[in-house]
Amino acid sequence: MQQNEVDAVRSVLTRDLSTPPQIPASAMVQATTLMAGGRLHRYGELPEGEHSSVAQLEMAFAALLGATYAIGVNSCGCALFLSLVAAGVKPGDPVLMNAFTLAPVPGAVAHAGARPILVDITEDYVIDLDDLAAKAQASGARHLLLSHMRGHIGDMDQLAAFCTARGIALIEDCAHTLGADWNGTPTGRFGVAGCFSFQSYKHVNGGEGGMIVTDDEDLAARAILLSGSYMLYRQNGARPADEVFERWRYTSPNMSMRLSNLVAALVLPQLPLLPERAAIWNGLHDRLAGRLRRLNGLRLPLRSPAEHYVQSSIQFEAPGLDPERMAAFASSCAARGVFLKWFGADEPRGFTSQSQHWRYIENVEAPPRARRILRHLFDMRLPLTLTLAECDTVADIIGECLADLPAA
Ligand SMILES: *Cc1c(COP(=O)(O)O)cnc(C)c1O
Repeated sequence: MQQNEVDAVRSVLTRDLSTPPQIPASAMVQATTLMAGGRLHRYGELPEGEHSSVAQLEMAFAALLGATYAIGVNSCGCALFLSLVAAGVKPGDPVLMNAFTLAPVPGAVAHAGARPILVDITEDYVIDLDDLAAKAQASGARHLLLSHMRGHIGDMDQLAAFCTARGIALIEDCAHTLGADWNGTPTGRFGVAGCFSFQSYKHVNGGEGGMIVTDDEDLAARAILLSGSYMLYRQNGARPADEVFERWRYTSPNMSMRLSNLVAALVLPQLPLLPERAAIWNGLHDRLAGRLRRLNGLRLPLRSPAEHYVQSSIQFEAPGLDPERMAAFASSCAARGVFLKWFGADEPRGFTSQSQHWRYIENVEAPPRARRILRHLFDMRLPLTLTLAECDTVADIIGECLADLPAA
């Protein structure tokens, strides 16, 4: 082909990458029935033996994760906050967290009045156990808030063993790992609590909402009371026995972070769809990852065979590019319909975030490896409606935009 013919067939992606998972018809029916009855608030006078939509979701969620208790709340950020407080974090306490995470995570630590201690990540985007050991030692922290950021799961056997040996309570942020596991154990089940999100861009779409899972009866009772159960906690779907609440009911403030029945009605029928959605997302991710790995100048993280991810987005680095060319690369991809989020932008934009933008933290400077990786990191959402052929188009566009960059 002549150069002008190549130009003439330059492909453009027409798929809207920002499309969230659709609400299934069965969920719309449940939501409509609920609205007709008006009982959108999870607590109230219920006929004997009847369970609210939130209580039903709590039972289903506990069963799905193999957890004893599940507590519906109004967001994953609040699930993280409530888990920290219910696990005993006090104002001023240091809380360890991996530096590759989203703004609601240091936000949850700040909400608890605690101090985030940023831990470095490995070349493969998961928490660095050596830096974790060093920061745990130096800070004396008793809590680790671990994000499986963008679906990347580290070696959870090693991490859980480390936390047990050091007496560190592990709280997992599973906003991007509902349906994922490490070596057969679902994420959210390795520490004292796991937190999940029902925000539209996670794996089940309720608009807003979150869930805490735990086997710890005191943590569960405290989280339920703090979440704003009034003295109606007996209506919770997966809760500890009454006597556990007796220990906490006079000392736990009501913080009004409840989940709405309407959200639960939308989410519950989506739980059985998780395996199907995971297969679609991983098919798209693996197709695109396979193509991107072949491009010169890009790096993708290595994944362990023990990690069973649900990859609803894809991340890659362009390690050789300077900031000017990274910005040019992102804008030429965008001009062809491929909207990449660049974590390294000077100003925080959209959903991307890096610690330098969280200036309320004492030591906002990210540790060195996280800094370098985030500076070169690109992120793209994989909507369920994307096709494998469109993944190839995306890879072509990315490859061509890279090749077209001026030399350094
Ligand atoms: C989305 C997200 C959260 C927060 O979830 P919300 O339900 O929006 O509060 C926390 N951590 C990570 C890694 C996320 O992606």
